[in-house]
Amino acid sequence: MLRLFVDAALRERASIPLDGDQAAWLGRVMRRRVGERLAVFNGTDGEWEAEIAALERGSGQAAVLQRLRPQTASPDIWLAFAPAKRSTGDLVVRQATELGVSRILPVIAERSVVDRLNPVRLRRIAIEAAEQCERLDVPEIAPLAPLKDLLAGWPATRPLAVCHPGGGAMQVGPAPGGLLLGPEGGFAAGELDALAETGFVRLVSLGPRILRAETAVVAALSIRQAIWGNGA
Ligand code: SAM
Repeated sequence: MLRLFVDAALRERASIPLDGDQAAWLGRVMRRRVGERLAVFNGTDGEWEAEIAALERGSGQAAVLQRLRPQTASPDIWLAFAPAKRSTGDLVVRQATELGVSRILPVIAERSVVDRLNPVRLRRIAIEAAEQCERLDVPEIAPLAPLKDLLAGWPATRPLAVCHPGGGAMQVGPAPGGLLLGPEGGFAAGELDALAETGFVRLVSLGPRILRAETAVVAALSIRQAIWGNGA
């Protein structure tokens, strides 16, 4: 069944508005018609079956029928990364959403080349990925912030695995509550010192090959999942 994230409360017999993009996607792209069914979710009320009640150019309406799944939370995993370019941000957000992270924190490191991101675009990518991968929530995406601010605000009780070539093995022990990926040029020496001083950071390796950030995010989250499971 097609899935749509909607910005409306979901309950039996509710009538929910569809915006222009959603109506165009349903009608023009997916060739759906009034009377056909879809699944809707809003991140808090679970997933519901709905019927397309109206589909026009620029808007639409869906009638909520019955709940298909109760709301569940994604595992409480945070992913911080230093985007190398705009497309890295897009890909990392998409893949991290599919792999179940609950918070995405873009950071500016000393060797970063990106100092701005489009939050609206990233939110839209996260929503599309959540619709596609069947999760029931959309990860929160924090504003781009300097690495030092990320570390200053990081909860000391949340172990942070910093992916760094030459780090130690990701292994059994306390599950990292966060992962951090560096920029194309890697972390600067001063940043590695600052990370070491925090007390909650461990440098971890993703193997002997140097991966681009887009690849590293998949490897890091998959290794974490393989060791600690999807719900840890
Ligand atoms: N020359 C850089 C260095 O030595 O750190 C390579 C940076 S790599 C293109 C971008 C980021 O991906 C790194 O900062 C790190 O977070 C992650 N990464 C890539 N390959 C890795 C590996 N084998 N082990 C751990 N992290 C890795």
